[in-house]
Amino acid sequence: MTNQQSKLNGRQAGASTRSVHGGARRDKGFHSMTTPIVQTATYTFESTARVIEFLEKKVYGGELEREEYARYGNPTVWSLERRIANLEAAEDAVVYPSGMSAVTSLFLTVLRPGAHIVMTDDCYRRTRQFCETTLKKFGVETSIAPMGDSAALEAAIVPKKTRFIFTETPTNPYLRVADLGRLAELGKRYRALTLLDTTFATPVNLRPLEHGIDFVMHSATKYFGGHNDVLGGVVAGGAGRIKALKDARGIFGNVIDPHQAYLLERGLKTLAVRVRHQNEAAMKVARHLESHRKIDRVYYPGLESHPDHEIARALMSGFGGVISFEVAGDIKTTSDFIDRLRIPYIAPSLGGTESLIEQPAYFSYYDLSGEERLAIGIKDNLVRFALGIEDAEDIIADLEASLEQVPDRASVDSKSSATDR
Ligand SMILES: *Cc1c(COP(=O)(O)O)cnc(C)c1O
Repeated sequence: MTNQQSKLNGRQAGASTRSVHGGARRDKGFHSMTTPIVQTATYTFESTARVIEFLEKKVYGGELEREEYARYGNPTVWSLERRIANLEAAEDAVVYPSGMSAVTSLFLTVLRPGAHIVMTDDCYRRTRQFCETTLKKFGVETSIAPMGDSAALEAAIVPKKTRFIFTETPTNPYLRVADLGRLAELGKRYRALTLLDTTFATPVNLRPLEHGIDFVMHSATKYFGGHNDVLGGVVAGGAGRIKALKDARGIFGNVIDPHQAYLLERGLKTLAVRVRHQNEAAMKVARHLESHRKIDRVYYPGLESHPDHEIARALMSGFGGVISFEVAGDIKTTSDFIDRLRIPYIAPSLGGTESLIEQPAYFSYYDLSGEERLAIGIKDNLVRFALGIEDAEDIIADLEASLEQVPDRASVDSKSSATDR
């Protein structure tokens, strides 16, 4: 199965078959089943004639697939890029050493002074920080629209100036899901590029390019790597645009190490198996928590109570492995609840084999006061649970054991105020 071509024996290959084989070349050299880690800083030429041939014919992934120097490309990295492109149904993909490297490179490559970005309010905090500080220094303005308010999103667009409309799906921590049809339509109407960070969804659950979005990006650190052991980032989209990003990467110098790329490719092979397990387990855990009297509220797009449930059902083939919920209690009750758990590690990040749990009031937002956090919608009793691949029943038993010890103050007040969010 080569790029874009995901048909096998006349039928559309499934997500797991594509995770293992999609975009992979059978002939990897040395009869190696796995992609060799090409550990080199430069590449050699047999003769000057070969140098000239290379300089004249050089095309990415074309007939003369080689490079002259490792900042411009590496075969282990190419293999990973082909696989991700296949999974995203993209013409091409470009890989970076981290998710932040992917998004910052994309913006720095495409934007010019005087340009304008519209992004939604619950985008990854560092991305937003980059737009509002670094890009601002270069004369790029950013407007923030509330997630889920498509009239406000359109109102934030400055015709002829807005170059990017950027959002995430599902978002952190409330797992909001963007209406991709509407987003693509706004992009076309205002001639702005649309960019979606679908780190939380993965191409197993959602492929934005199939809905008319221009670029999709991921922190490959999360589900692609899948084992909490490697950083990475990727942007996928049309061939011409991705080539521009690869050229810029050769100048910026933010290249991924071939060992890192190897680990990401290894992780990708089990992507669909892991994500489907996580979809299923998260659904069970979310349902369990929703009916629990010591939980004020659960945010999971698979639940009918989620504001974007209908959109999510229409667009996604699974709702992902991250659940957010509010414990019936204050900041201390909530951290005590977390501290008693035996399965999840207390850590930021998500998408790996081990379950991770965090209280956003501490992680990511510790520098803000309680009021400032509340103003941006981060409650003290909010918990983000990123499922690993443990059994749902064991996770539920673990949550149950800790919830049992949450003091029974579950006041009627906090219940009623939680429901009108
Ligand atoms: C983690 C994350 C990023 C940043 O990726 P890194 O690999 O940590 O640089 C960007 N967007 C989302 C949604 C993320 O979860």
